[in-house]
Amino acid sequence: MARLVDTDALAGTVSGNDRRTPTGGTITVTEPATGQVLAVIGRAGSDDVRTAAATARRAQPGWAATPPAARAEVLRTAERLLTEHRDEAIEWLVREGGAVPGKAGYEVDAVRDELWVAAALLTQPCGHLLPSGPERHSVARRIPLGVVGVISPWNVPMLLGMRAVAPAIALGNAVVLKPDPRTAVSGGHLVAKLFEEAGLPTGVLHVLPGGAEAGAALTRDQDVAMIAFTGSTRVGREVGAVAGGLLKRVSLELGGNNAFLVLDDADVDAAAAAGAWGAFFHQGQICMAASRHIVVESVADEYLDKLARRANELRVGDPWREEVDLGPLIDATQLDRVRRIVAESVSAGASVRAGGIRHSRLGFRPTVLADVTPTMPAFAEEIFGPVAPVTVVADEDAAVEAANRTEYGLVAAVRTGSVERGLALADRIETALVHVNDQTIYDDAFGPFGGRKYSGNGSRYGATQSWEEFTQWQWLTVQPSTTPPPGRPSAKACDASGTRSGGRSAT
Ligand code: NAD
Repeated sequence: MARLVDTDALAGTVSGNDRRTPTGGTITVTEPATGQVLAVIGRAGSDDVRTAAATARRAQPGWAATPPAARAEVLRTAERLLTEHRDEAIEWLVREGGAVPGKAGYEVDAVRDELWVAAALLTQPCGHLLPSGPERHSVARRIPLGVVGVISPWNVPMLLGMRAVAPAIALGNAVVLKPDPRTAVSGGHLVAKLFEEAGLPTGVLHVLPGGAEAGAALTRDQDVAMIAFTGSTRVGREVGAVAGGLLKRVSLELGGNNAFLVLDDADVDAAAAAGAWGAFFHQGQICMAASRHIVVESVADEYLDKLARRANELRVGDPWREEVDLGPLIDATQLDRVRRIVAESVSAGASVRAGGIRHSRLGFRPTVLADVTPTMPAFAEEIFGPVAPVTVVADEDAAVEAANRTEYGLVAAVRTGSVERGLALADRIETALVHVNDQTIYDDAFGPFGGRKYSGNGSRYGATQSWEEFTQWQWLTVQPSTTPPPGRPSAKACDASGTRSGGRSAT
């Protein structure tokens, strides 16, 4: 079977089914585990964004007018192609993104779900029939926004792009996707190829790998009606400010600093297994990572011992050539950040119970920090690395207080022997997602995914939420063509209550 992505064909081009020579230079796609160059591809500059957005705007009405069944077929075909090319997609996620094959496979299958769910949106009603006078037909219908700009990060590149691209396209929008340059193939070119091969008309999807310059150009482009941004809170604020000034819709899915609470009645074995998974999955580079382990003191020693034992058993290395549990961090900047946070926390009094050291090129041993207090960087900052800071608290009330002591509000998980206790605690946690007796990293294509506080601006992804995110309401009224025009407004046209007899059309 021919490969989906031909790396030679990517040199000097901006992808999407509208190819041109990019103005931003090139991106060297590098394997973080080895430093090996995987491809040299085009980097989009702001001129490319302008051209793509204008082309997308021209293409969008034709796509919106395409029958829903035909639009759904494109999404289902893209899913089928991804299934056929699952191994190739996994290879890119492993080599370009440093994922272990398990994470990559999970991501590909989650993308397949997104495509199916997006196709299924087109089986649902898209409006309401409203009460109205006998001659007037009044409906509220959902119509596309126009061009949606999607800006995605590198950590779960294919899924975090596709969770916006697939529903936006399904609902009749055109899309300009700007993936992070570090994962331009798995987060960009692969997505473009899937839709191109699936028969999406030229001009409806543009994929422009690039950095901050391209992202900023997309945010302010006059032809882009909405920005769907996933990334850090720092950049999200900038994007939100620019989009807000231009009165564009903007969805912001931002950082997290997520509490994993272990109560005194928890099964500590299971809690340690879940805590290790939540902290170390994809080297901790997940917005939902279990990044603050808040443990009630009566079980804290046992939890720390078991968590440290698990951390010590995990293998770190090259996920493409070795059988490992953790791959490398994405780049040296990220590695330096993790080392700095660990070092500063240790200087402030935290103790290393496992890991704490670099492993090979960009690897970092899964790390357990004990004696962590809320003023330490390991508690206060989003680490985005394989570090489990453990903070001991006296009781459940103190656990809730510690969990909420953060500017972020993405997700929390609680381990307890009592489901009732877990449910009651969920009421007191200031996060958009709460999982009882799970770990923090859980997402699917159906739930309302988003963040509270500095983790987002109230937008939500997921099946039914897509209608809210990627369409707008149009109120449409229709009268028979024989309807006489309204007369001149006059006092006589109002009844005693001041209501105009012909509804509001005479105003
Ligand atoms: P980042 O904010 O630096 O970059 C995200 C994207 O924005 C990239 O494509 C980048 O090129 C682009 N960008 C950078 N500057 C820009 C600008 N000025 N204007 C427009 N676009 C710009 O994020 P990162 O550090 O690469 O990713 C990790 C962060 O993303 C973490 O904070 C993580 O928690 C967050 N994240 C959140 C979610 C979620 O769903 N809430 C999911 C994954 C990651």
